[in-house]
Amino acid sequence: MEYGIISSMEPHRCLECGNVIPHMRTGKIFCCDSCRNRYHNAEKRQLRVYRRRIGNRLERNYTILEGLLAQGVDSLPLSDLQLMGFSPETVTGYFLKQRRSLELGCYDILYKQSGTKVFDLHRVRSPAKDSPHPYARDDTAPLP
Ligand SMILES: [Zn+2]
Repeated sequence: MEYGIISSMEPHRCLECGNVIPHMRTGKIFCCDSCRNRYHNAEKRQLRVYRRRIGNRLERNYTILEGLLAQGVDSLPLSDLQLMGFSPETVTGYFLKQRRSLELGCYDILYKQSGTKVFDLHRVRSPAKDSPHPYARDDTAPLP
């Protein structure tokens, strides 16, 4: 590995096209408005793609969990869920419960997850308006 001193005399290069930016424009990071616009548009497009990908994962997770609840399933191996397309790293929330157990959420469906399985899958009742914890499970409410 070679080390060297980066000379302040090295030319500045445009972040978009890599062309040298003339010295009289020191402090600029783009060579022209067109490059600046292309760079920022690409950045926005990447963010849109990222947000859409996360949204799709959440939608798929929700559909899977909702289907399991409809079948009365409240626990199953994580590997089975992943085979269905479930993305365990994508959640809408997580809550540290009593005795330090972690509960994960996908909108109104909550569950616990160990390294190998998902369990205690349940749907949250509609959030109480005055609840300090809007997704707290209300065990005192009568069953429908
Ligand atoms: Zn440029």
